[in-house]
Amino acid sequence: MIVELISVGTELLLGNIVNTNTQYLAEKCALLGLSMYHQVVVGDNHDRLAEVIRTALGRSDIVILTGGLGPTEDDMTKEVCAQVMDAPLEEDAHTRARIEEYFRNNIYRKITDNNWKQALVPAGARVLDNDNGTAPGLILEKNGKVAVLLPGPPGELYPLFEEQVYPYLQNLQPEVIRSQMVKVCGIGESGVEDRLLDLIDGQTNPTIATYAKIGEVHVRVTARAADEQEARKLVKPVVREIRDRLGDCVYTVREEETLEMAVVRLLEKYELTVTTAESCTGGQIASRLVNVPGVSDVFREGFVTYSNKAKRKYLDVSKSTLKKYGAVSEQTAKEMAIGGAFASDSDICIAVTGIAGPDGGTEEKPVGLVYIATYMKNTVTVEEYRFKGNRQKIREQTVVKALDLVRRTILKYYKS
Ligand code: ATP
Ligand code: MG
Repeated sequence: MIVELISVGTELLLGNIVNTNTQYLAEKCALLGLSMYHQVVVGDNHDRLAEVIRTALGRSDIVILTGGLGPTEDDMTKEVCAQVMDAPLEEDAHTRARIEEYFRNNIYRKITDNNWKQALVPAGARVLDNDNGTAPGLILEKNGKVAVLLPGPPGELYPLFEEQVYPYLQNLQPEVIRSQMVKVCGIGESGVEDRLLDLIDGQTNPTIATYAKIGEVHVRVTARAADEQEARKLVKPVVREIRDRLGDCVYTVREEETLEMAVVRLLEKYELTVTTAESCTGGQIASRLVNVPGVSDVFREGFVTYSNKAKRKYLDVSKSTLKKYGAVSEQTAKEMAIGGAFASDSDICIAVTGIAGPDGGTEEKPVGLVYIATYMKNTVTVEEYRFKGNRQKIREQTVVKALDLVRRTILKYYKS
């Protein structure tokens, strides 16, 4: 089935807002196995909107429209769509009651006459209750075509889509699509492709797609089948094969699990505590760890030691090391890791020191040179990286590599 997206809003055309709704919906539609050939952006203009809806209905089975469902004069998506699809607007008592309820519970907003416009729905449309705003979503089926209308604000669109539209679209499909994500760290996209080349080349069902993220690669395995069970049966052996080939580089096969979650899961499993000793990342590693709820059992404190003085004061890095090798050196990273672990009485310390730029690089120590060290059970491991990119990129890559080094340090210890 072919789906088409129409984003409505003059502010999108002017570049005032980034069209994140389209990115979100496109990704979801791909997951559903729908074919998409067109995405259209159109301003708040009656005739042009009518024209793009007519064109979309002519070439696609499903048209998803976002934006322009609000109460004001320039919000006209529903009106125009109803007109084009020849479904006159009528008041929906249920929606009217919900709007009243919404304003009763919201003491900061007063109901205005134009709010009642939002209780009008095209005849025969299915109404999707919106718990985060007043404009309901709508699904209108007519002459073998489907129009889905969703409010523009992402905070309203996402839950509506996830809870009500996604299952609806899934049901429209004769077959089910299931996918599983394999998340990989410590090997680049081309390295991943190289190891999976024959699998990727021969793919039909399931398909294998790789996505490069900062410091990570995500591999999605997607199968189509008559039912859920059949699809899972197709996905499972391929995921197993990918895991076998990529080994410890795979940190999770769970869609929702992030790298920091995988690290915290390992720390919890082996009852280990961790601390951070950060220079160029200025606390970003700690911040990523703290993204994970319940991290307080394994992470209690971290150090941001930007200056040499701070490295000496908090991590006991020796004056002679700093003088002889410099702050950005293997030796300093090592001492930071050892010092951090002792200062905080943690099982593991992850330490980073590097040159994030844009200034401060030399021939010998260029911008992007980063040392990452871990200390665990009397063993120190140091890795040297030469990252490319601007200050932000260098720091982001450092954080990912650091988290991954913690993960690999633990695995190495318990597997040997
Ligand atoms: P409202 O009731 O808030 O007017 P609406 O359904 O009429 O909702 P719009 O007026 O088109 O939607 O957009 C409202 C807001 O939603 C925009 O200011 C913007 O913040 C967000 N928005 C709209 N379209 C998009 C989009 N394609 N991508 C990201 N955000 C969007
Ligand atoms: Mg609006």
